[in-house]
Amino acid sequence: MPKAQETVLEIDLKALKHNFEYIKSKLHKDTKILAVVKAFAYGSDASEIAKYLQDLQVDYFAVAYVNEGVTLRDAGIETPILVLHPQAVNFKTLIERCLEPSLYSAKILDEFLAIASKEKQNNYPVHIKFNTGLNRLGFLEKDIDSIVSKLESTTAIRAKSLFSHLAASEDLNENGFTKDQIAKFKSIYKTFTTAIGYQPMLHICNTSGVLNYPEAHLDMVRSGIGLYGFGNSESWNKDFKPVATLKSLISQIHHIEKGETVGYNRAFKSDGLKKTATIPIGHADGISRIYGNGKGKVTINGQQAPIIGNVCMDMIMVNITDIDCKEGDEVIIFGNGMSASAFAQSANTISYEILTAISQRVKRVFLT
Ligand SMILES: *Cc1c(COP(=O)(O)O)cnc(C)c1O
Repeated sequence: MPKAQETVLEIDLKALKHNFEYIKSKLHKDTKILAVVKAFAYGSDASEIAKYLQDLQVDYFAVAYVNEGVTLRDAGIETPILVLHPQAVNFKTLIERCLEPSLYSAKILDEFLAIASKEKQNNYPVHIKFNTGLNRLGFLEKDIDSIVSKLESTTAIRAKSLFSHLAASEDLNENGFTKDQIAKFKSIYKTFTTAIGYQPMLHICNTSGVLNYPEAHLDMVRSGIGLYGFGNSESWNKDFKPVATLKSLISQIHHIEKGETVGYNRAFKSDGLKKTATIPIGHADGISRIYGNGKGKVTINGQQAPIIGNVCMDMIMVNITDIDCKEGDEVIIFGNGMSASAFAQSANTISYEILTAISQRVKRVFLT
């Protein structure tokens, strides 16, 4: 791996391949894989990740919003793309770019149906989302009759899949709740397919669902965090390889005396002779102020250096008093030594949040 000469997010495509193949190894050969590439592919780079996964024959992609799907089409992605949370204002664009909407309420179904009819669509693929307990987006079981009668009254759209989303698939203490969600979904899809007379694809598992609920893989699974290298538990994490490493370097070293302070608002006060390093990454790059004042730690020459004082917009200062290092040395924010999930834990958050927080200002570098 090249030594960082500026702050970079390194994206290891071999690790991505490993994770894809690992997830695939957990599935029946007929179960499809949908790769979730929303939010810049969890903060990495949606177009590059999608191109690579398309070459690996992934079956589907999902994004949250229509503009994310447009970016993938512009990058030449031809694999089907499910848009998980589209807004009606973008439906015309969605149709023009062959993106497939998740329809989760009577309002959004009616809005999409009106536009698909106006645009003279025939059997336009849509994905019907059911709420089985997350209480975020989705129809309820009692809505089935009205959905089916709307679908039967038109040739403009057709249900390509029925799906739901698990609320706590990573938490085995919630095993009973998850099993209830799976059972509810089963009852929903049985009623729905009997009423509609054809068989849409069925899917409910995210990454932790894939790992913890093999009986619920159904026709397709939707994996995000697993592809990027995390299994939401220490034991599963071992089987994945983190794709992203956030690296920087030491810009300047300071020697400070007892009583001196470091950074804005003088938040760090020195109780003795200290050595500090200033690093070109700040809250504008995605390192929230929550990581300041000793919470977050970076790795320099294999040793941990806590962030001292407040995180600035473009910089952090770290305590390197006991670390043998010099200006220009590499700094690992997360990756080798300290995983993104461990770094996130230091600020009481999760890998998903720190990965997606890394701003577009940080250069992405791809290792192949
Ligand atoms: C984000 C998302 C996923 C991916 O979940 P992971 O835990 O990252 O695998 C799957 N399904 C839906 C509906 C999502 O919003």
